[in-house]
Amino acid sequence: MIPGLMQPRPLQIIDILKFAATAHAGVEIVSRLVDEPIVRSSYGAEMARTERCAKALQKLGVRSGDRVATLAWNTHRHFELFYAVPGLGAVLNTVNPRLFDEQIVYILNHAEARVLLFDKTFLPLVERLAPQLTHVRTFVMLSGEGAHAAGAVGALCYEALIAAEQDGFVWPTVDENAGAVLCYTSGTTGDPKGVLYSHRAVVLHAMASGLASAFGFSAFDVVMPCSSMFHATAWGLPFAAPINGCKLVLPCEKMDGASLQELIVSEGVTFSGGVPTIWTMYLAHLQQTGQRPGKLARVVIGGSAVPRAMAETFKTAYGVQVLQIWGMTETTPLGVVATATPALAALGEDKLDDAIWTRQGRLQFGIELRVVTDEGEDAPRDGETSGALMVRGPWTIQRYFRGAKDVADADGWFDTGDIATLDSFGFMRITDRKKDVIKSGGEWISSIDLENVAVACPGVKIAAVIGAPHPKWEERPVLVIEPHEGAAITAEDVLAFLQPRIVKWWTPDAVVFDTVPLTATGKIDKKVLRERYKALLTG
Ligand code: ADP
Repeated sequence: MIPGLMQPRPLQIIDILKFAATAHAGVEIVSRLVDEPIVRSSYGAEMARTERCAKALQKLGVRSGDRVATLAWNTHRHFELFYAVPGLGAVLNTVNPRLFDEQIVYILNHAEARVLLFDKTFLPLVERLAPQLTHVRTFVMLSGEGAHAAGAVGALCYEALIAAEQDGFVWPTVDENAGAVLCYTSGTTGDPKGVLYSHRAVVLHAMASGLASAFGFSAFDVVMPCSSMFHATAWGLPFAAPINGCKLVLPCEKMDGASLQELIVSEGVTFSGGVPTIWTMYLAHLQQTGQRPGKLARVVIGGSAVPRAMAETFKTAYGVQVLQIWGMTETTPLGVVATATPALAALGEDKLDDAIWTRQGRLQFGIELRVVTDEGEDAPRDGETSGALMVRGPWTIQRYFRGAKDVADADGWFDTGDIATLDSFGFMRITDRKKDVIKSGGEWISSIDLENVAVACPGVKIAAVIGAPHPKWEERPVLVIEPHEGAAITAEDVLAFLQPRIVKWWTPDAVVFDTVPLTATGKIDKKVLRERYKALLTG
């Protein structure tokens, strides 16, 4: 080998903010807060506050490699911690406050977090859990001095800590392979598992996600992440936005339709992203009020399959382009995005829309995809043959935090647990999660495909399909419907709607009306539904 002669300067998260503060100093960050007025800041001002934050954390004893945890919403204070903690060479552990108490305690103890910074909303939670936390020594409330409450944990006040410091900080050089951000998957089975992103993974992921083949960012974009910063870093948007000089709008916890609409219009939001449930609420708000979505041009939706009807409404009623994305905590989290290609566009607008709305994404540089059949062969790229989706790349997991062995195989392939197809256009379609697929008489029925059709039925708000044990067929589909408020809709209506749109043997054996439970990350909680309806078809 002849060594390359370019600079070996490591990829570091703090350099993203340094860049934005230099090249886009005046670009705004606008943040809602808990019980405090909206704050308007800028990348320049955020750099200075992040320097102060780093100094304050050092005084609290935070050293390289230490874990610093947050229970926090999408705010500018959380944004500062996204940079200050990795900038110190320490690890930011973002904890999902919607998990059960035992899971939160498990995560904080497993991560051995020494400092816990939390929003005021979570004071009762933190007070309740504090006696069980084995490593946390310092509690800090992410509040202004006027809104502060120390509570039973004697929490320090974040703004007071920042105010006590001077601007300026000499950031250490951190190895690009050092751990930077630690996110736990919600652990629908077993204990939550920690995914430890390196600086290198986060920076490469942030650079790639802004590309035209993905989110297509420019400095004219105003980005509002509506996925939570505590769940896989809000899809990396707090890193990708500053790289591209985009104005950043942070909605705190207020993700209801009216609150989002207020910010979208007043701040000129052009780009947003979140799970389908957020956009169901948002579209309902627009429909009820007759309002328009301001300058909103692109919405990325993922975490669960995008209902086709949702994408269509966004386009036809409001001129907003929906981009479906697929990813998981284990892929930092963006895997693929469904964006147009000339080959698809040549087929006409209808075909293009259909591909983009019903496929989870297409091959992107930086994440390789493979679909492997039950026989262990690579599935043909025919858009039909499904198999286990495997991924590989510089922002794909190798091993869980403190795990005994690698979860990627010897060639680097990580089995996602999803079932998918790939087509000749390079588009990937998830047909199910391995554990959700319905096995009926030796054939597979895709719960996602059925849900997608059912949710387009007038009056249906959420459609969930599960496999219920069946005496003859092993499993048969049960369709659980949560109707829109006030909608008069019957099982016969739903079945009549499905009939011309699906193959006959997919027809659900039962249609029930119920509230659909959601997980801590906004996905349909099929485990709960399977348990609830396990005897429905067996009597
Ligand atoms: P959690 O299970 O903790 O919510 P993740 O957020 O990591 O964890 O979830 C990742 C999973 O979400 C994927 O493996 C896949 O099953 C599902 N998923 C993500 N995006 C999509 C999508 N666009 N369509 C269907 N499923 C998706």
